[in-house]
Amino acid sequence: MDTKQTIKVAVAGAKGRMGQEVVKMLGGDSELSFVAAIDSKLDGVDVGEIIGGKPLGVPFVRSLESALTTYKPDVLVDFTTPQTVWENMEIALQHGVRPVVGTTGLSPEQIELMSNTCRERGIGAIIAPNFAIGAILCMKFAQVAAKYMPHVEIIELHHDQKLDAPSGTAIKTAELIAEARRELRQGHPSEHESIPGARGAEYHGFRIHSVRLPGMVAHQEVLFGATGQTLSIRHDSISRESFMPGVNMAIKAVMNLDRLVYGLEHLLD
Ligand code: NAP
Repeated sequence: MDTKQTIKVAVAGAKGRMGQEVVKMLGGDSELSFVAAIDSKLDGVDVGEIIGGKPLGVPFVRSLESALTTYKPDVLVDFTTPQTVWENMEIALQHGVRPVVGTTGLSPEQIELMSNTCRERGIGAIIAPNFAIGAILCMKFAQVAAKYMPHVEIIELHHDQKLDAPSGTAIKTAELIAEARRELRQGHPSEHESIPGARGAEYHGFRIHSVRLPGMVAHQEVLFGATGQTLSIRHDSISRESFMPGVNMAIKAVMNLDRLVYGLEHLLD
């Protein structure tokens, strides 16, 4: 593929933990070209200086609007914050730029609204709460198990700088489980929390627990219990590189979409 045919990619949150991995991934794929990075504090600084390598010839730009106007990317990859991502997506769509969003914390209502906007404008977008293939399999296996073992709890574990809880992956897993299992409220009807929150968050009759500790990256265990047996389905992202094949796949796939896709699993089959 010659340079004219490369997919031009801008990255919002490029100096963050995930953003830096995205920049490295883009540099290793000749079908993609990294054209812009957005950061509110590093205007004009070469991105290479921040990610600890040689200069890349791509400076950070303060405003997303001016980055999109100047560099005309095809795709905006967003790994920012739950407070920022919504506005970023709106701006990208206004400029005809396809968003690929890893930032978690968007509400179901926001995702629905964004889906409508994409449909009206005939433009593709991908929101994936988890870009790791193993995490997608963990969700799918949990959905299958929930049909046969409906007593379930989710434990998600992340690094202590994560802003939203429960994780987007846990919410998506919970949605899939709720679709598959029969209506059931778990635990003893008279159970009582001596310390509020001890039983975790309640979702459609089952519980989700969020652990935040330094040293963690992104982990999830879905625990099932039945008479005389338990089943654990666990996924561990032990480095942020684990998400990059999924991000790469999404950047390429979004070019051929005319609607919003929520969840990497829809790109796998
Ligand atoms: P992080 O290290 O805190 O990075 C977020 C970056 O976004 C920071 O550099 C921050 O800059 C920047 N930022 C904030 N507001 C911005 C704005 N308006 N414009 C441009 N940049 C802005 O967080 P992270 O660990 O990379 O995670 C980012 C998001 O990805 C989180 O929502 C996390 O849950 C999610 N995540 C998703 C996946 C997945 O597979 N989907 C995997 C891991 C993480 P400042 O520090 O200067 O504010």
